[in-house]
Amino acid sequence: MSAVLNDPAIPSRPQPRPGVLQIEAYVPGKSHAPGVEKVFKLSSNETPLGPSEKAVTAFNAAARTLQDYPDGAAHVLREAIARAQGLDPDRIICGAGSDELLNLVTHTFVGPGDEVLFSEHGFLVYRIAALAAGGVPVVAKEANLTTDVDALLAKVTARTRVVFVANPNNPTGTYIPFSEVKRLHAGLPPNVLLVLDAAYAEYVRRNDYETGLELALSAENVLMTRTFSKIHGLAALRIGWAVGPAPIIDALNRVRGPFNMNTPALLAGAAAIEDVAHVEKAVAHNAEWLPWLTTQIGKLGLNVTPSVANFLLIHFPPEKGRTAKEADAFLTRRGLILRSVASYGLPDALRMTVGSAEANLKVVEALKDFLEGKPA
Ligand SMILES: *Cc1c(COP(=O)(O)O)cnc(C)c1O
Repeated sequence: MSAVLNDPAIPSRPQPRPGVLQIEAYVPGKSHAPGVEKVFKLSSNETPLGPSEKAVTAFNAAARTLQDYPDGAAHVLREAIARAQGLDPDRIICGAGSDELLNLVTHTFVGPGDEVLFSEHGFLVYRIAALAAGGVPVVAKEANLTTDVDALLAKVTARTRVVFVANPNNPTGTYIPFSEVKRLHAGLPPNVLLVLDAAYAEYVRRNDYETGLELALSAENVLMTRTFSKIHGLAALRIGWAVGPAPIIDALNRVRGPFNMNTPALLAGAAAIEDVAHVEKAVAHNAEWLPWLTTQIGKLGLNVTPSVANFLLIHFPPEKGRTAKEADAFLTRRGLILRSVASYGLPDALRMTVGSAEANLKVVEALKDFLEGKPA
């Protein structure tokens, strides 16, 4: 019998590490509207255009190889990304969605008591990843729902290990120019890893925006993450990638699962990034509808945060009958599923993904009816 069996200091059942039970599990965007025939899911920033046909063909072909382990080094995909971006494939790591990479970063660089810094309305995965690693989430205030570099720098301590910045950010849709990213980087101690999460980079059409690729290639402490879930329409396959300094990529490769990417994802992802025409179509669709929605919803008297991504944040007044919660219920009854962002500290707003033309027109019409007090 073990010597500790009768030790009264031993807990009566297995205990998760400190931090784990502080995690509020991520609640994904809704996908159902009970009783409605045609549903438009505008809650998870998926593309209304779907994936590239070439990606679908590659995915189908992969069905014939399911007995074999995938290539653990993800050669096909890393090389396709490297060609598309003009990079060295050795500086790229792939993950099961950028979610896996964000978690890998904290598991690799954050230990108990270490601080992980991000901004007030930053992507929820950062907090979850920090706590799961036993770290301490530290939050910096935003200014105008936008990442505030000075506020972030003011929160840096000797315990800071990782700073996460989604640029553009989800759910706000706002961004900081590259000059601000560089100022943030310049103000960080060299042992702090700056993670630039550029999940929506392809959608941004601003001259002063950069993904951070240049910094990830030149600095010793910058990692840029990307995803195939948004512009490439492959959210179901879970494909993300990151580029950074060789020692960072090396450390992440030691911690990741040896077969973290599956074969259908590797092949479909490689085909998707090569289908430039499809990406351009998705960018053009967004460039047409994002400003249209912003203007039309603004005309209804609702405040819309200016977005550079494929979604927008709509603010509702606090008066009964007009709140975000009531709007959400109203829209859902019409099969229009938006995203509540109360868990992001934004209880008076809803996030809407730019959808198909049909969905976009329906949302504007439904919001008009909602504000006029018409029945759903
Ligand atoms: C959607 C999103 C991601 C991508 O997540 P995947 O795991 O790649 O699907 C990453 N960061 C932000 C800010 C996002 O909104």
